[in-house]
Amino acid sequence: MPIFRVALDLPLHRLFDYLAPETAGREAIGRRVRVPFGRGERLGVIVDVAASGDWPIEQLKPAGEVLHDLPPLPPDFFALCQFASTYYQAPLGEVVLQALPAGLKRRDAPQRRSVRPPPPAAPVLPPELTAEQAAAVAAVDPAAGFSAHLLHGVTGSGKTEVYLRLVERALAAGRQALLLVPEINLTPQLEERVRARFPQNTVVALHSELAEAARERNWLAAFAGSADIVLGTRLAIFTPLPRLGLIVVDEEHDASFKQQDGMRYSARDLAVVRAHQAGVPVVLGSATPALETWANAAAGRYQRLTLRERANRQAKLPPLCLIDTRRLSLREGFAAPLLAAVGERLARGEQSLIFLNRRGYAPVLACPACAWVSHCRRCAANLVLHRADRRLRCHHCGFEQRVPPACPTCGNQDIHPYGRGTQRLEEWLQGEFPAARILRVDRDSVKSRKQWEAMLERIHGGEADILVGTQMLAKGHDFSKLTLVGVLGADAALHAADWRAPERLFAQLMQVAGRAGRAELAGEVLIQTQFPEHPLFAALVVHDYAGFAASQLAEREQAGFPPYAFQAVLRAEAPQMADAIAFLKAAVALPPVAAHGEVVLYDPVPMRMARLASLERGQLLAESPSRPALQAFLPRWREAIEGLKTPSRLRWHLEVDPLEF
Ligand code: ADP
Ligand code: ZN
Ligand code: ZN
Repeated sequence: MPIFRVALDLPLHRLFDYLAPETAGREAIGRRVRVPFGRGERLGVIVDVAASGDWPIEQLKPAGEVLHDLPPLPPDFFALCQFASTYYQAPLGEVVLQALPAGLKRRDAPQRRSVRPPPPAAPVLPPELTAEQAAAVAAVDPAAGFSAHLLHGVTGSGKTEVYLRLVERALAAGRQALLLVPEINLTPQLEERVRARFPQNTVVALHSELAEAARERNWLAAFAGSADIVLGTRLAIFTPLPRLGLIVVDEEHDASFKQQDGMRYSARDLAVVRAHQAGVPVVLGSATPALETWANAAAGRYQRLTLRERANRQAKLPPLCLIDTRRLSLREGFAAPLLAAVGERLARGEQSLIFLNRRGYAPVLACPACAWVSHCRRCAANLVLHRADRRLRCHHCGFEQRVPPACPTCGNQDIHPYGRGTQRLEEWLQGEFPAARILRVDRDSVKSRKQWEAMLERIHGGEADILVGTQMLAKGHDFSKLTLVGVLGADAALHAADWRAPERLFAQLMQVAGRAGRAELAGEVLIQTQFPEHPLFAALVVHDYAGFAASQLAEREQAGFPPYAFQAVLRAEAPQMADAIAFLKAAVALPPVAAHGEVVLYDPVPMRMARLASLERGQLLAESPSRPALQAFLPRWREAIEGLKTPSRLRWHLEVDPLEF
């Protein structure tokens, strides 16, 4: 009697066995199946058809209906899921089922609506490639099997054009292309650009903000092979693609490729694994690659392709200047030279962008008479003042309340906002430049893709003189009249406890600086700082990513940080920190720990943000100079941890290659 080995969406590291019909064979692998579970029924995916499983056959229940509404999920899909499950210590069932659109995880049959082929249109003619672009395109040979490339190109150097040429080649060879981007909503023009270039081909988007039906339709088109180009965010890495010929990861350094909850994986890293499994090229593109990627290229694991010049010859990289604020008196955070520069742009009818990566009016409201500050009740964080709608909001858990009319502790009516956010800059600049049209661009002013597109239209239409914004504005936009970028509040990240903070700051500043001078008009970038001698700024002002990366990597090597060590973190959250720490201490004392000399476990400590949404959070770092040693240790450790008795309200998880602590 054959049995079905079934993946179910449960947090358990095993498959579930059911009796299969007498006639069932391996052609059932990859099909969805209804199975009895507890008192009800669940939908799972058949991973294997075997003669025996983990349990005596007489204890097994018969499987229910095998669904034939779709072709079976292919072997390469399972190969990627299996890799992710093993590498990230995630149950295979969770990996397999999270990869499917929601509708296919329920019983209902898939939507039969298909993706309409695009209306006929003349393709937009591509520009003639620059010599550097041509060399990059020529270096990637889709016919030669797996190859990994880092496309390192300054902002505006025409990386997207290189991707499009590679996609064109893949399509010409009858293959599908997968393009991963950090956040599609922030770059609607990319989708347009792809569609305009390939009007004869079917392009589908896959991201979490699509309505369920649209996502399912697009996923099915990709799976059926009828979509030629899939443009997606991190979750799209798991899409089955029968004709896959190329994977591109744009802005590969972006942290949003890392899933930070549920199944914690890096879509960028999985892209390389998938390309390897499928025998196709993968291109990781960025102006500021992740240091892990840079090190991989330096070690020869990825081929480095470099674009040094902006593609548009008239567009020069803008000069970056530091404004030393130590000897200047600031007005509402602004140094006089920056204000003067804004004034000049106004007089010339050009746009300025003031960049501050902090939304809200002020990061905290406090009482000078007593020690009261606006703390979040549920988190180790302050409530941010949003003056426009008179609310205090926690940016971590979403808790909010009305602004109190007086200090809740001492009754003092004179409570003050401290520090600045984008709303406060906007308000003050409006007073300073009454005739200027100011647009604030952050997650409070732009909440949906529609609003974002409308906002972009206003900016492009010249309806704004001054933009005040967060990193939302930093990515991939061409604003032809934007000639000045002013940066405030960069210093905070220079001395952050997080050793990845300089890498993020450098990338962010390069990105935002890249917005200036994209067209004929020359740009200028002014960065206010109290630390003008800092090596990060020294590298930044000469656009020297390579120098910055080399010095950061040298520091990391000395300190034994990634990419020179491999890490996993065990986290526990509970109503009481003592419970979380006690659990982590018990995890350190488990037998597999002593047996793995090459893996070092640090002391359990509270997380940097120790309290989130009323739960106390502790963590324990496991580290090894050897990835195989860490990988050998993790499953044994995890199994032992699963055997620990835990308080009922304690939750724990393991994260491999964590980015945040
Ligand atoms: P990146 O992705 O590196 O930031 P883009 O691909 O968006 O750069 O290109 C920046 C600008 O240069 C775009 O306006 C694009 O149309 C233009 N561009 C790209 N390649 C060329 C080329 N070979 N000749 C002329 N213009 C180009
Ligand atoms: Zn008070
Ligand atoms: Zn909170």
